Amino acid sequence: MRATKAIIHLSNIEHNIKTIQRILTPNVKICVPVKADAYGHGAVEVSRSAIKAGAAMLAVATVDEALELRAAGITHPLLLLGISLPEEIPEIVEHGISTFVADLDYIDALEREAKKKGAKAKVHLKVDTGMSRIGCRPHEAVTLAARIAKSASLSLEGTATHLAVSDSALKPDDEFTLLQIERFQSVLDTFKKSGINGGLAHIANSGAVARFPQAAFDMVRPGILVYGYAPAPDAEGLLNVRPVMELQTQIVSIHKIEKGTSVSYGRAWKAPADTMIATIPVGYADGILRRCSPGLQVTVGGALRPVVGRICMDQCMVDLGMDSGVSRWDTVTVFGEGEVTAATVARLCNTIPYEITCGINAKRVPRVYQENR
Ligand SMILES: *Cc1c(COP(=O)(O)O)cnc(C)c1O
Repeated sequence: MRATKAIIHLSNIEHNIKTIQRILTPNVKICVPVKADAYGHGAVEVSRSAIKAGAAMLAVATVDEALELRAAGITHPLLLLGISLPEEIPEIVEHGISTFVADLDYIDALEREAKKKGAKAKVHLKVDTGMSRIGCRPHEAVTLAARIAKSASLSLEGTATHLAVSDSALKPDDEFTLLQIERFQSVLDTFKKSGINGGLAHIANSGAVARFPQAAFDMVRPGILVYGYAPAPDAEGLLNVRPVMELQTQIVSIHKIEKGTSVSYGRAWKAPADTMIATIPVGYADGILRRCSPGLQVTVGGALRPVVGRICMDQCMVDLGMDSGVSRWDTVTVFGEGEVTAATVARLCNTIPYEITCGINAKRVPRVYQENR
């Protein structure tokens, strides 16, 4: 195996799910989003850990993601968060995947397929309360829910919405989240008045779980929290979650350079004094973005040391200084549970931790699963 690998601390998945469960009322279910290969952590292994930790459901973005889990023998309830093509509907029904629905055409198509198969398609009505992505308008919800409820081939398993700014503590954002919660509650109230059972009501992503745990309804859908990160700085420190992914590599070359010598493409960095440079085999093709340098620091020999010069496609260089005591083949931690996390890297690159862990190229960087710490 190559030097660069992503160690996936599965025990932290379990710790994080249990930490989330602890702040919720005991009957609130947890749906763990494992879309995008579990935010880059590996969908099958993360799903198994999540199930072990008590997840009631797993959420995916595409039918292919659901089929990957089914092919791995995972029979747990799956929720499809996206809208699929008409030709994908047979697989949704065949594999018993619950799916978001938001319009009559799609509901009709699911019903036709379920009827043909003598099956019951499980659906969650998605209501758009302010995200403007997927969802029916709140005033259409009761009609669609009634349509689903009266179908012999459909089962209304849930009613949901998605929050746009639940991770932000800015006053207008807080007000918008409360407005979205209120719009959702009104939809549930109209169901009640019309005698419709909307199934599981769910709204909370990680931002809401951390900042609005009172709005958990029947089920929550925290993604990034399960992977050990707050969705945004305003939601940091509210829950004691631990980063799951640790990006490690090893030094493949060490050499001395004289004061004034430039390092890497563009000669953007020149040594201010004689120093030792370590080359590590991790670059932007592995998902360590080029714009992380200057600024990125890695942990080696028990200390933080700067990446210097431009990050290359497959490699980058670290300034060790003259007396580091570090040797060739020593382990380097790029990010993980220590001082530098994926959130640190994200801030440096003006992005979010989601994009960092999702971006660690699974084709090049093997995932190594660790159960115990
Ligand atoms: C991705 C996603 C989530 C999880 O979001 P986090 O910010 O990672 O908690 C929840 N619900 C829906 C509909 C999503 O698409």
